[in-house]
Amino acid sequence: MATIAAVATPDAVGGISVIRISGDKSLEIADAVFEAVNNVKPSQMQGYTCSYGFINDSENKHVDDVVLTVFRAPKSYTGEDVVEISCHGGRYITKKILRIVLKNGAEPAMAGEFTKRAFLNGKLSLTQAEGVMDVISSSGESQLKYANALKDGAVYRRITGIKNQLVEILGNLAAWADFPEEDVPEVDPLTLSDQIDRVVNDLTKTIATYDHGRIVREGINTVICGKPNVGKSTLMNCLSGYQRSIVTDIAGTTRDVIEESVVLGDLTLRLSDTAGIRTTDDVIESMGVDIAYQRIEQADLILAVFDCTSELDEKETELIDKIFNKNSIAIINKIDGENKIDRQFISDKFRYVVEISAKNEEGTDKLVSVLNEMFINNRSDADEGIIANERQKCCLEKALDNVNEAYDALNCGMMLDAVTVCLDSAVESLMELTGEKASETIVNDVFSRFCVGK
Ligand code: GDP
Repeated sequence: MATIAAVATPDAVGGISVIRISGDKSLEIADAVFEAVNNVKPSQMQGYTCSYGFINDSENKHVDDVVLTVFRAPKSYTGEDVVEISCHGGRYITKKILRIVLKNGAEPAMAGEFTKRAFLNGKLSLTQAEGVMDVISSSGESQLKYANALKDGAVYRRITGIKNQLVEILGNLAAWADFPEEDVPEVDPLTLSDQIDRVVNDLTKTIATYDHGRIVREGINTVICGKPNVGKSTLMNCLSGYQRSIVTDIAGTTRDVIEESVVLGDLTLRLSDTAGIRTTDDVIESMGVDIAYQRIEQADLILAVFDCTSELDEKETELIDKIFNKNSIAIINKIDGENKIDRQFISDKFRYVVEISAKNEEGTDKLVSVLNEMFINNRSDADEGIIANERQKCCLEKALDNVNEAYDALNCGMMLDAVTVCLDSAVESLMELTGEKASETIVNDVFSRFCVGK
C-alpha cells in the first residue's frame, strides 16, 4: 500500500500545523526531509518519541523548524509507521512542507484515508470509525458523549452481543443437522423460538435508540405553534436570545417558517416559528398555515402557545385536538397579565404545561426542566450503544427482517434449513454494520464523509 501524507489540521492560519505521513516508507521519507538537531534520524527513533529539527528542501535549505513525532507500526493510529511533523501554522509553509514530503515519495491522502487504514488494519470497527467522525463534528456535551461512546466501541459491543446470540443458535442448528447420529441434543422448536424471540427483542430495542441518538446529534425538531399574537415570535426570540422573528401587534405577521437552533441545557432545539394557526383569506398566509400543520406532523416536539389574557377560541381547541397524543408542551404565555384562560381545560389535555412570560423572559427554567424530563431522563445511556446513523439503522432493520422471517419459517413448520438461511442473513447484516463483512462500496462511502488528513 502506498505511503500517504496530508495536512491533518484545518486549512487556516494557527500556531501549529500538523502534516501526517502513514505507510511503509514514512520513516524513509522523514529521513530524507528532516535534519534533527541531535543528528538522530527518524528511522533510528523509538515509537512515541519526538525530535526537534529542520525540514529541508531539495537544495538542503532549511524551510522551517519543526517537531517530528514517530509512531511505529502497529502502535499508531493507522497501524502503520506514522510520522507527524508539527510545523509553524501558516498556510503557505504548511503546504510547502507537504509538497516536499510528496516529492520524496508520499502520495496525497484521500478524505478519511488514515482512519480507513486504521479500519483495514483492524484498529477500529466501522462503527468506531464513524464515532471518530462524530467526535470531530460534535458541537455540544451530549453529542460528544455519544460520539465518544461510539468511538470507544459501545455500538460495536452491543451489536456483537446480538450477533453472538445468533451464532450460538446457528451453531446448535448446524451441530444437530450435521451430526444427527452423534450425541447432539435435538433442537427443540420451543427453545429455538424463545431464543429467536430474544434476538427480535434486542434488535427492536437497539433500533429504538436511533431516534434518541438523532435528537442528541441533530437537535429536537421543534415547532412553536398557536394562533396569531399569543407570543410565538416573542418566545422564539426569548429562547434564541436575540430578535429573529418579526414581532408586531398585527395578527399574522409571521408568514412563513423561521428556523433557529437554540441550546437549552444539554439539548439543542431546532425551532420553527410557524404562521399563526387560524383561518385566513390571505393566500400567502394560508400557505404558511398549511406548512405549519405539515411541520406539526413531522415534529419531535410541539410547543403549543396560548395567551392567558384571552379565552380559548374554536381554532385553538381544534389545534389542541390535532396535537393530542403528540409529544407536546402547552406554553401558557403572558402570565404577567390578567388570566382569562381555562387552565384546567389545558391541564386536562396536556401532560406538560409550562407558564411563562416570554416578554419578561420568565419561566424558561421550568421549560428546560420539562425538556430534560421528556428527552434526557430515563433514556438509554450512551455506554449501552446508541445507534448513530441511517446506515447502522438500515443494517439493523435488515437483520430484524431476516430474524422475523426465521421466526415465521419456524412457526410455519418449515425445515430448519430455512431458519438457518434466514439467521445467516441476519448475521451478515450485523457484520455489515460493524464492518466485519462490509462491501468496498459501503466502506468507501463511510470514509468519503471524512475530511482529508483524518
Ligand atoms: P405571535 O403572533 O404569536 O408571534 O406573537 P408575537 O410574539 O408577535 O407577540 C404579540 C404581542 O404580544 C406583542 O405585542 C408582544 O410584545 C406581546 N407579548 C408576547 N409575549 C408577551 C408576554 O409574555 N406578556 C405580555 N404582556 N405581552 C407579550
